[in-house]
Amino acid sequence: MSNQWPEWMALNKNLRELTPYGAPQIPAQIRLNTNENPYPLRPEIQERIISELSANLADLNRYPDRDALKLRELLAQYINENSNSQFTRENIWVANGSNEILQSICLAFEGDAMGFEPSYSMHPLISRSVGKHWHSIPRTDEFEIDINKAVNEIIKLRPGVVFIATPNNPTGSSVSITDIEKLAKAALEVKAVLVVDEAYAEFSSQTSAVSLISGNPNLIVSRTMSKAFGFAGVRVGYLVAAKAVIDAMLLVRLPYHLSELTQAAARAAIGFSKQLKEQVNQIKQSRDKVASELGAMGLKVFNSDANFLLFTGFKMSSQELWRQLVSEGVLIRDVGIPGHLRVTIGTEFENEAFLKALKKITQN
Ligand SMILES: *Cc1c(COP(=O)(O)O)cnc(C)c1O
Repeated sequence: MSNQWPEWMALNKNLRELTPYGAPQIPAQIRLNTNENPYPLRPEIQERIISELSANLADLNRYPDRDALKLRELLAQYINENSNSQFTRENIWVANGSNEILQSICLAFEGDAMGFEPSYSMHPLISRSVGKHWHSIPRTDEFEIDINKAVNEIIKLRPGVVFIATPNNPTGSSVSITDIEKLAKAALEVKAVLVVDEAYAEFSSQTSAVSLISGNPNLIVSRTMSKAFGFAGVRVGYLVAAKAVIDAMLLVRLPYHLSELTQAAARAAIGFSKQLKEQVNQIKQSRDKVASELGAMGLKVFNSDANFLLFTGFKMSSQELWRQLVSEGVLIRDVGIPGHLRVTIGTEFENEAFLKALKKITQN
């Protein structure tokens, strides 16, 4: 990539070695590659969105609410209902997807960034794109965080921003709440923020790290409506944190960053969070079923607290298996860990199609 840039272009030097985020967008009948909720938006949610949108269409000549006050209030309520907490809109910031949230955090806070890999590929990409140095700390062979080593690295390298994803993408396992607290305390010692990326929180069996915020002011929980909520096409992510963090976000956000269309759609959908639970349970059941079928095929499947599975133990290379699945009409994800592939849990029909194609390829 680096030597393809034209001579005249003074591209930021942090960007020269980077490649764009690239989940392949290729047409496939069965798409199990980007961890969305596989179910279409229910008709009653669609109708509620339409009415919330039409009530606000005449006002589109005006800029939207810069501070998204109503939406932040609804998001605080949603968190409180699920975590026994007492957050207000002063503890919530909302943006176009949690990726924008992560970017705003990187813009606001000083110092290097650190993460425990393999993990979400956007953490290093966003960090580097805003000029931060990235420290990659490897996970164990089973893809867990070695907590003592992690704490030592934080104290030694003194980053400004520390990322963890829990449940972790692409490996699926969660970090325990006691370990998260140890990381937050270590981060505080070096004046770093700990960003807990909980994109898959609704699928997780663990307590949310929002419960740690009151005792750990440097802990920021990032959430999204893109996964369990089935709202990936709308682009809504948010964070939960101490009020001082939200004040910092106000300095780096672009004015009127979140369109009224987005805010209205999100306000409408958030009211259906209870119905969401059924779907989430269905997806978790399917996940466990797919995991046991992969196991029965002699593959190794990593424990998952999310809506996807990482598996290994097949005979060909991951690229080759990925390619053969694509030719069977099934798109899953090569996450760049040799010998491993990640599959998103889909509808029953999609899961069956995936398993059938996989059997056909590997048992021939
Ligand atoms: C999917 C994902 C996100 C979501 O990003 P949005 O911008 O909210 O769609 C964030 N973090 C992780 C770990 C993810 O897997």
